[in-house]
Amino acid sequence: MRVSQFPLNTLKETPAEAEVVSHQLLLRAGYIRRLASGLYTWLPLGLRVLRRVEQIVREEMNRAGALELLMPAVQPAELWQESGRWEQYGSELLRLQDRHQRDFCFGPTHEEVITDLVRREIRSYKQLPVNYYQIQTKFRDERRPRFGIMRAREFLMKDAYSFHVDAGSLQATYDAMHAAYSRIFSRCGLEFRAVEADTGSIGGSASHEFHVLADSGEDSIAFSEGGYAANVELAPTAAPPPAPAPSRALEKVATPGVHSIEDLVAFLGIPVTQTVKTLVLEASAEADAPLVAVLLRGDHELNAVKAEKHPWIATPLRMAGDAEIRAAIGAGTGSLGPVGLPLPVLADHGVAGLADFVTGANADGFHLTGVNWERDLPLPATADLRNITAGEAAPDGSGPMGIRRGIEVGHIFQLGDKYSRALNANVLDESGRERVVTMGCYGIGVSRVVAAAIEQNHDDRGICWPAALAPFDIALCPIGAKKSQRVREAAAALHDELEAAGFSVLLDDRDIRPGVMFADMELIGLPHRLVIGERALDEGVIEYQGRRDPEASKIQRSQLVGFLR
Ligand code: ATP
Ligand code: MG
Ligand code: MG
Ligand code: MG
Repeated sequence: MRVSQFPLNTLKETPAEAEVVSHQLLLRAGYIRRLASGLYTWLPLGLRVLRRVEQIVREEMNRAGALELLMPAVQPAELWQESGRWEQYGSELLRLQDRHQRDFCFGPTHEEVITDLVRREIRSYKQLPVNYYQIQTKFRDERRPRFGIMRAREFLMKDAYSFHVDAGSLQATYDAMHAAYSRIFSRCGLEFRAVEADTGSIGGSASHEFHVLADSGEDSIAFSEGGYAANVELAPTAAPPPAPAPSRALEKVATPGVHSIEDLVAFLGIPVTQTVKTLVLEASAEADAPLVAVLLRGDHELNAVKAEKHPWIATPLRMAGDAEIRAAIGAGTGSLGPVGLPLPVLADHGVAGLADFVTGANADGFHLTGVNWERDLPLPATADLRNITAGEAAPDGSGPMGIRRGIEVGHIFQLGDKYSRALNANVLDESGRERVVTMGCYGIGVSRVVAAAIEQNHDDRGICWPAALAPFDIALCPIGAKKSQRVREAAAALHDELEAAGFSVLLDDRDIRPGVMFADMELIGLPHRLVIGERALDEGVIEYQGRRDPEASKIQRSQLVGFLR
């Protein structure tokens, strides 16, 4: 490919709206362009990367025995009403109506549609197990779309759904998916960890998330080299700050007489707006002791506030038992909380923190966005996980534990019969009896992988693509081509030879200064750069520089293909 036929859309300036490096580089290097909040166009260069991720995912899913299909992106409301999620999902669900005023949604996920298919198509245990997948556009009306394609509203997901007659069969497919995901992210050239995740409101017994390790990740994950790993999104990455010395406020909070949040708020003088007060803090009328209730909402900003700016709040939350939290989930309403925290506990951690927390909340920041439970209630699944501290032994005895930031790129779940029961997806078992099928689901954020790869692989000059994801393998840069027909011909011949040898080559045939050419190629991040000019031709060599190499070296022309392999 020649740049004259494949124009680059690089930018000199870093767009101001881009907070994280992957977003900045994807814009600057001309991979994506923003259309509107959370909506991005993939430019030709970007689409090549996306397709490479997709291809790896497809190959490994096929290898693991999954069957590709393609479901509609638009889904009828009736199915979501059957599962109960029309009500529960909240405002992340983009709802629409057709010309007959029938309700639809743009699919954020496809459990309902696939379960509907299976209940119609599959009658007998003999047709199971089956694992269907698709690679398709999803829409989630994220409350806070950000970081470009990392947390977009429209994005590309691989979602797979497996169906089984029994738990043993589900476990076998789940294990196969776990292995396939490990192969996928390894082939992508990414450093990742599979971690235990909360199964949350989706129910089911097992869930793992796959995280690409990167400091900019929104989640905190804990793992030991011995293999133990868990998502501890709520846990602070650093040790919690020491409890502040008791103040007058603390003494009074700990005394009887503060029986409601109104008392507390009045006493503390926290400037709380009605909205924030209602959503974040609530009193528990039934409790004997005064309780402060923290309402957790489907709210990423809230998560971020808790985890990053207010690690103190993670500690009391981790002290509240899972059962307590689960019990507090409004059944069917899709909202979380309240979680009761005894005032003294809160007091131990400083009401000053509470004041910050409340005032730090953005006034319009607490709309209900429905619940994505495994994220919005990010407590780890088992009690052991709550007290993980970096450097200590892991709960399984392996260790020491490390805590790192991660980007969730994949998620696998044993769903059990949540959807199949609600939608009556039954099969006849061996003895001829009707049986509800049991399900697993398996997602990969295909477009998010592109961003995660950059978060992990970049330097101050641009992207450093893992070889498997690069839009082109080789940047071919002729020097002085305008004046030298010899250089032009040599470059064209080398381009064709390398393409014939199976490499994708981007030949820069623009009439620009070498420095500008090199800067562009480094920015877009191609793994190998070859430079040819008159002098190199005289010497019978090619100048080679790997994207991460500190300097160029000379390779004999005759040895080049072997070297690149
Ligand atoms: P998150 O915790 O980041 O909101 P999720 O847990 O809601 O993700 P899942 O329902 O597990 O997401 O979906 C499967 C995969 O889809 C995720 O592991 C992630 O890689 C990807 N994904 C989810 N939401 C987005 C988004 N808004 N933009 C891009 N990719 C996404
Ligand atoms: Mg989510
Ligand atoms: Mg998540
Ligand atoms: Mg998830």
